[in-house]
Order: sequence, then C-alpha cells, then structure tokens
Amino acid sequence: MPESIAQQFKFLLEENLSIDLTRGKPSPSQLDLSNDLLSITVEPLTDDGADIRNYGEPLGIHQARMLGSELLDSPITNTIAAEQSSLLLTYQLLLASHLFGINDKPWKDIENPKFICPIPGFDRHFNMLDELGIEMLPVPLVGDGLDIEILKTTLAEHADIVGLISVPRHSNPSGDIYSDENILKIFELCSEYSDDLLFLFDHAYLIHDLPNAPSQTPIWALAEQAGVLNQTSVLTSFSKVTFGGGGLAFFAGGEGTFSLLKRIRGSMIICPDKVNQLRHVRFFKNKQNIISHMQKHAAIIEPKFALTSSILRTIPEECGTFSSPTGGYFITYQTSKPVASKVIEICKSAGVLITPAGATFPHGVDPQDSIIRLAPTFVEAIELQKAIEVFSAAVQIAHFNLET
Ligand code: PLP
Repeated sequence: MPESIAQQFKFLLEENLSIDLTRGKPSPSQLDLSNDLLSITVEPLTDDGADIRNYGEPLGIHQARMLGSELLDSPITNTIAAEQSSLLLTYQLLLASHLFGINDKPWKDIENPKFICPIPGFDRHFNMLDELGIEMLPVPLVGDGLDIEILKTTLAEHADIVGLISVPRHSNPSGDIYSDENILKIFELCSEYSDDLLFLFDHAYLIHDLPNAPSQTPIWALAEQAGVLNQTSVLTSFSKVTFGGGGLAFFAGGEGTFSLLKRIRGSMIICPDKVNQLRHVRFFKNKQNIISHMQKHAAIIEPKFALTSSILRTIPEECGTFSSPTGGYFITYQTSKPVASKVIEICKSAGVLITPAGATFPHGVDPQDSIIRLAPTFVEAIELQKAIEVFSAAVQIAHFNLET
C-alpha cells in the first residue's frame, strides 16, 4: 500500500499545483455575506447625538459598545468598542502592563517576566510576548483547556509569572473549547499565585461555531464568580465576521485591566473610526442578527471541514491523529513520529503551502516536531481536496520513509 501512495504522489506532482493553506482566512463567498456593508449609508449623528465625523467617544459609540457588551456578556461600562483589530488591543494591553502594570507593578521593573502560553498556540501572540522580552512557559492543551497538573508544576517552579494568554473557544489551532471547570481552576491556581497576574482571553472565535458546538459560560461571569475581574481581559473582533481589517474590535475588562487599556489608548489614539462603528451597528442591529450571520458562515465552512476530515481519515492511524473542531478556522494534525517539518517540505515540493512546522510554538520550535496546522477555509472545495490529498500522501511518505 505505501508504494501506491508514492505512485499517487507522483501523479499529484504532475498536476503542478499551487495552493496556499497557510493562514486561516474567510473565503470570498464568506466575505460576500457582508457586502451590504460596502454601500450602507449612515447619518452623521448617532441616536444619542454623537457626531461620528468628529473626534470624541474614545471608548466607542454607545451602540457599538452595546454590541460588544452583548457579545462578551460584560457590562457596557466595562466594554470598549475600538477600531478594526483585537490584536492591536492585545498589544496595547501588554504594553500598558509593561509600562504601568496592574496594581502599579510594571513588568519593565521585573528582571525576567514570564507568561503561561497554552500550546499549540497562535504565532502572533508569541511574537508580541517575545518582543516585550517575556519568557514563554508552555503548558499543553488537552482538549478542554489547559493541562492542570502541568499548570500547577509550572506555577510552583517559576517566580515572576505575570500573565496567561489563551484562546478559550475553538483555540487556534487545536480547536479546544475550555470547559468552565478548566477556566475556574486556572483562575483559582493563578490568583492564588498572584493577584497581579493578567488573564488575557483572546476570544477571536467566540461566535465562530459549527452546528453542535458546546456552550460555554461567558468568561465575564466565570471571572466574577472567581473574584478575578480586576485581572481579567476579554477581546474579540469582527475580523472573521465581516471584513478582515475592516471590522470592529471589542475589549471587556475589570477595573484593573480596563483602566490600563484606557490609559495607554488615551496617549495613542484620540478616538476610533466611529463611521465604521455606526455602519456595523446599522448592519447588525443586535446580537441575534450576528448569530444568524455566523450560521451562514458555518454553512460555507462546514463542508470544507468535513471534506478535510474525510480525507484525513484515510491516513493509517499509526501515522498520527487529527482534531475534530466544532468551530474556528483550523484542523490540527499530530504526527506520531517527529516528521512534521518533513511533511510540510514534501507538500511544498508538490505546490501545497502549509503553515511552517513549529509556528504554533514559542520561538517557532515544536520540540516533538509533530504539530501541523491546516487552514481549510479560504480555498474552494476542488483545490482543498487536492491539497489534502497531497498532505495525506506526504504524511505517509514521511512516516514510512518512502522513496518518491
Ligand atoms: N487572535 C487569534 C487567536 C487569531 O487566530 C486571529 C486571526 O487569525 C486574530 C486574533 C486576529 O484578530 P484581529 O484581526 O481582530 O486582530
């Protein structure tokens, strides 16, 4: 059978493919769902009289903050509607913590600040932390959140842990949905460790569910229950709801994190783009319409995830395992041998680009060389099928060390 794989791979090589599966982006048909935003007209004043053409409303227009607070289940007074990128808000919050710190303890005064980083994770989170000179302490994800035993040992072994970053729903790339118990345990252990430790929840895939995605108690309610609101921040955006780089980003935080973000933004930006905020408010009106809109995204994405899984299932089990996410943008394949880099190299030789091996780990190094992130959403089904067939052959070629 392996020989027939090598033969099949030769045929795929002859097709001169050029397919990019590296980044999780919406496909053009998903973007079309929001086309009305391109021509929507808005009046100069909001319902409560704010002039969207001028400076003002640094925390966002009231109606946009309302949408954010409905999505994040946070009080409107603790919610900011910002410009188009939640990553920008994340960086601003990290920078404010570095310069000023929660409870007036800036990270810049700590010799070797450290962060808990669930792995596999998001390369851009790791880049930010690295740029701020923060040491990253990896803690594995186990399907429903962090490995609590390893979290305990990590906290016990290290001084100066200043934060924990996570993607609590449809985690990038593993698809983990943190259980309420897992989040509450994280709160308990980390707040026992320090009441300055920043909880940063990047809820990038908060509403990006496929049918049957399990529900989750809002982070705000769990943080309130655990008494850690002061240290907690939750972020999300419309980047994969309407337009990447053209949506809105939201932040919710308790007194500590809210005042940090407000302070740094006060120096950086006079106010967000209120015209785009009002456009989104008029387009969506309320949370229910946002959820219905996301169901249309899911109807486009789900067949691509199903197609990918159906081809991955044909790979012999001894070669590895793969995730079955209930939302988000990624499927993770874990090779049983340390051959992820080799698999990706073989795919590249056949014209299929996959996210570099190691990209989902701090400093780009996967110690087991086994995690591969597949992003099936952007390409159309015909190309996706070819790309995953190449991938499937590549896994087997690498695993069985076949000649090609
Ligand atoms: N956070 C995570 C976990 C992501 O996967 C992404 C996009 O891929 C982002 C943030 C980017 O969000 P934004 O466009 O709002 O900055």
